Amino acid sequence: MISLASRRLRFLRGRVKTLSTGFSPLHTTRNTSSTQSPIIPKYPIVSDIPAETSQFPFGFDLEEPEIWREVPPFSDVSYDEFLSWRWHTKIQNLVETKEQLSEFLYAVLPEEVPRPAGMAGMQTRDEFTGDVYSGIRKSAMSVRVMPYVLSRINWADPANCPIFRQFIPLGSIMVQDHPRVKPDSLHEQEDSPVDGIVHRYPDKALFLTVGVCPVYCVFCTRSYGVGANTEVLAKEPFKVSRTRFENAFAYVESQPDLKDIAISGGDAFYLPHHVLEWIGDRLIGMKNIERIRFATKGLAVAPNRFLDSSDPWTETLIRVSDKARRAGKLRNQSVLLRGVNDNVATMSSLIQKLAQMTIQPYYVYQCDMVPKVEHLRTPLQTILDLESELRGSIAGFYMPNFIVDLPEGGGKRLACSFESYDRDTGVSTFRAPVLTSKRKAGKIYKYYDPLPPSS
Ligand code: SF4
Repeated sequence: MISLASRRLRFLRGRVKTLSTGFSPLHTTRNTSSTQSPIIPKYPIVSDIPAETSQFPFGFDLEEPEIWREVPPFSDVSYDEFLSWRWHTKIQNLVETKEQLSEFLYAVLPEEVPRPAGMAGMQTRDEFTGDVYSGIRKSAMSVRVMPYVLSRINWADPANCPIFRQFIPLGSIMVQDHPRVKPDSLHEQEDSPVDGIVHRYPDKALFLTVGVCPVYCVFCTRSYGVGANTEVLAKEPFKVSRTRFENAFAYVESQPDLKDIAISGGDAFYLPHHVLEWIGDRLIGMKNIERIRFATKGLAVAPNRFLDSSDPWTETLIRVSDKARRAGKLRNQSVLLRGVNDNVATMSSLIQKLAQMTIQPYYVYQCDMVPKVEHLRTPLQTILDLESELRGSIAGFYMPNFIVDLPEGGGKRLACSFESYDRDTGVSTFRAPVLTSKRKAGKIYKYYDPLPPSS
């Protein structure tokens, strides 16, 4: 198995043109920033990892005990099965319906589990399960969790497990939405000249290819189009369709200033491999395009797929990157979430571990103002404090940018670049960067802290 890992690792080392990814705490797929992306990376690239290592660089240690066997529904699952992408995506192994979730929870939960932090005492398994159902009824995101993620959750205390909190909602910790919250809070649809393309910055665009992901994050910024409908939100899904993609390619090719395309969704991990290659080939063939990036959470939530030699996705990605003939670089984008990573120790550990894996900590985002995630949003002050405490303790070139993606399509700004911040009302203002739309350049945009619990 180690030689299999080494072989796949050699495939990956230094050859992926750019893969935006997320580790726990996880990325969200976003448009690209106004920061210039050098083609030759100033950061170490994946090829710096010794080939003989048995430690796969994406959190999947081949010498680790078979941790999934500790989770009762997976106790009989062999190493080869657990490595298999096909096994992971079998309908009976994914947890995405209420019945599957119910069956899984009753199999893994002890009779009593602690209540969420701030609520004293224990609760019964039935009470906890009822809390999950109540969360699902209120959530803007449907539930889908991969076996790998299910095997990483602390089932003795799920309500306080940062991995659980990102993917499975609990009704008891959700709070009322801020009145300014909107499903498409970044106004991506307004900046979409053709279906599937978000073009906000002169040289960069986002290509929304697919509306599904290996997991659904409670805090998804694109809940308006990702995953299945929920009781509170009907989706406008991004469909994999030749006509839609051809229209998108025609637009990209018609824009001489456009140089950089982030292929996202949803998650590029769920693009069929032949579609992944087709998209890569089409974009590489355009004279104006210099950089393409595939945005995926796959490395974090299903790293086994990169070791599964029977699955063609990884080799297709590598083939596309080979055709592009550019140095490879992996980047991480994280979202700041209350109770998950909103403290110096966790964020510092994330950055250090990314650095060890030669992955560039690229962005830490202030959580967007999308529905049903108020319990996970933090005030602007939290990100400002985190940045100021981390700066100086971490090598400058590994320091991520702490970003607010301005509501209503104002673009990305450094959190510390606010024009004003009233800590009493929780309202901060930012000036928009130079954007494709002249009417937005220099305009003032507002970000609102979550309301205090009493209001
Ligand atoms: S649900 Fe999908 S698109 Fe949304 S943040 Fe999670 S992985 Fe990204």
